[in-house]
Amino acid sequence: MAESAEPISVWTGVRAMFLMLTPNESSFQTVEEVPQYVQQASPVFIGLMLLEMVVGVLKTGAPVVTVSDGLTSISAGMISRLPHLLMRGCELSAYMYVWDRYRLVELPWDSAWTWWFTLLGVDLGYYWVHRFAHEVAILWAAHQVHHSSEYYNLTTALRQSLTQQFASWIFYLPLALAVPPSVFAVHIQLNLLYQFWIHTELIKDLGPLEWVFNTPKHHRVHHGRNLYCIDKNYGGILIIWDRLFGTFAQETDKVIYGLVFPIDTFEILYVQLHYYLCLWQRSNTYETIGDKLSTFVKGPSWKPGKSRLGDHDDNPKVTGKEVPHDPGWSRPLQVYVLVHFLLVLLTYHDVFQNKMILSQFTILGMIGYILLTLTSLGFIMDQRPTAAVLEMLRCVAMVTILQYGYLKSPFPQLAVPIEAFVSLSLLYWALQSFSQLLSIKKKAD
Ligand SMILES: [Zn+2]
Ligand SMILES: [Zn+2]
Repeated sequence: MAESAEPISVWTGVRAMFLMLTPNESSFQTVEEVPQYVQQASPVFIGLMLLEMVVGVLKTGAPVVTVSDGLTSISAGMISRLPHLLMRGCELSAYMYVWDRYRLVELPWDSAWTWWFTLLGVDLGYYWVHRFAHEVAILWAAHQVHHSSEYYNLTTALRQSLTQQFASWIFYLPLALAVPPSVFAVHIQLNLLYQFWIHTELIKDLGPLEWVFNTPKHHRVHHGRNLYCIDKNYGGILIIWDRLFGTFAQETDKVIYGLVFPIDTFEILYVQLHYYLCLWQRSNTYETIGDKLSTFVKGPSWKPGKSRLGDHDDNPKVTGKEVPHDPGWSRPLQVYVLVHFLLVLLTYHDVFQNKMILSQFTILGMIGYILLTLTSLGFIMDQRPTAAVLEMLRCVAMVTILQYGYLKSPFPQLAVPIEAFVSLSLLYWALQSFSQLLSIKKKAD
């Protein structure tokens, strides 16, 4: 999208999230004028996440977010947007291609009717994107990321898939036969933004709104691994699609969140990609080409001889006493990881701000550094034996970037404390790695 679009205010960001923009203020003639609502919503995301933490502690007496799970979710959100450093979003590119060549009619971009029609069209498209993402195993391999947290809070909303965007665009193409790309570009963002605030346990019931809208209550069911929750409530903004197509379920028993087979790790690339490997291995256990193919295109629970979606009764039963995976690690280490996470978040922000003036080579290098950092912090949270060595290597990379990097910190007055902290980190992990090597050697002796 465009560099010429006006930046939006925080208040507009808040209203965009709750679908409170008027057609008048959010209709544009060209794609270039469409504001980057999602990218500019970060302050709103952060503000609401902090609010949820405070209200959560006051209301329940316990934190609603853990450092390990929350940071893993936000990391997934960061990774899912890295392709945008190299290319325009798949959804919009494919859409514009079809619009340019195959459109049948041209709905007026400045009509409120077009705006409302597109809202409904994008939401219906999302329903089917989402339903296919759950019912076709190879698409589930991408979407399972969003369901891999065993917690349910606003950070869970950011736990997005890196690979899903490369398939979801297909479902919106019918709209490109009539709806101008500039109107689509607004609604594809509003649809995503709306789905942020519904990821919370603090809002119990919204009365009559529950009939029409997708709400925290309905979406909790969607994230459940209880039998009654599986493959239910796919809606984005509206829940009417689920009521219409027979996939609606009301929240009843206590919802236990996460995947049917929890992954129990914070290793970020594993969270994103493990299910592809899992499918490949499963398909290899089958003899016939038909069964091998079915592993990828039928439901994730499908087995030979079963119906298309398989039998969910075969999956592990939920008892209601499940406890989410939590590493139980030391406080100082939690603070360490938190501080380094904030530092890489600043770097991430900087790269996005400067992407137009950075070379492709630099951008690729920074993507590598961001992935290395998030992986290394995940290793620390997982308390892996190799965490010390990896973190030492990462600190070397970070010191190098700080010394020779071209990226300017938005807080120059913090440059000295940051460098001191980074140097201390490097020293700490170098000693850790060294003592680890010694103890391995001792064991070998
Ligand atoms: Zn889902
Ligand atoms: Zn969700």
